[in-house]
Amino acid sequence: MEQYTIKIKLLTPIWTGDADRKNTTLRETGIIGSLRWWYEALIRGLGGTACDPTNTNCNGDNHCDACELFGCTGWARKFKLETSFNYTYTIPEVWIGTREKRNNRYLKRKVDGFMSDGSIVLTFIPLKDISKNEWILLNSTFKVIEDYGAIGAHISQGSGVIKIVEDNLPYQNEKCRQLYKSKNSLASLDKFFFYKFKLKFKEDISKLINNKSFWTHTQEDNQFKDNWDNWRKLWENYDFLPIAFHIRDSLRHLENDKNKRHDIFGELGKGSKVFVSHGYKIDTKTVEFRIWGYEIDSYLLSPIKNNLESNLKQKLFSDGEDLLKNCVLKEEKSGNKLLEELK
Ligand SMILES: [Zn+2]
Repeated sequence: MEQYTIKIKLLTPIWTGDADRKNTTLRETGIIGSLRWWYEALIRGLGGTACDPTNTNCNGDNHCDACELFGCTGWARKFKLETSFNYTYTIPEVWIGTREKRNNRYLKRKVDGFMSDGSIVLTFIPLKDISKNEWILLNSTFKVIEDYGAIGAHISQGSGVIKIVEDNLPYQNEKCRQLYKSKNSLASLDKFFFYKFKLKFKEDISKLINNKSFWTHTQEDNQFKDNWDNWRKLWENYDFLPIAFHIRDSLRHLENDKNKRHDIFGELGKGSKVFVSHGYKIDTKTVEFRIWGYEIDSYLLSPIKNNLESNLKQKLFSDGEDLLKNCVLKEEKSGNKLLEELK
């Protein structure tokens, strides 16, 4: 059978490990799982059916549009995915401490994942006939991920921003069809928002790292050990700045209601409806980052945009010094607008 490839470059580390935090190799299942999540959101946004794979009635011939391509019990996935790459590196360890104590102690959160030497080739090997419409949906899924989202796990905590270097999948420039089926209440692209920000510092980022200017932990946590050499490596070798936790911190207190906050941000990033990327390099003083999410009350969206700069000034740096030149909203898109463009 014919094979089709898509080549990607990682802008922030990718995480494809499993729940017990093992991420020892780039796993196809991790990529497929994430692709499926976005594909489902796209299908629901277009009015099609996509079950919740963790709680599904799909079985055999009786299945939703997402299971049609990705498979379910009694119906095999229509393709096999293989990955190839020169070399992947587990990124050097960088930890960020929590600002407040949880259960009487400070916790540490790890910035983690792989970066690769050169690009990663994803090869799709069809095992059954993949319809034209499914290729279009798959291409559109990659487009959404590349332009506004991220791929793999831990994408609410910075991982998985990619650039598509070369796309050889069929039907790349064709539009998605509106689908007409019953809807369910799961993550649907029409309920998403997407923001891209440009963050410019007053000094070169290498200098800020050398000066230990970024916030990593509260001074009260005397157990915490910094790893500035590794910050330097992430920036100099991998072109990204590990600030997803700082950005999340800047967003958390926009919602005062604790229950709502847990619903939106999850517990330590699990089940989060808000996703944030690390900063990937634009130039020596500037990074870009993404914030996106779904089913967020509209009253929270304008504070995300308008208060972000002042919140970041407070959360990014260790001693309250203002080293931020500005934080500019570069692009915003509603899920509905994005769907219109894909249709
Ligand atoms: Zn299904």
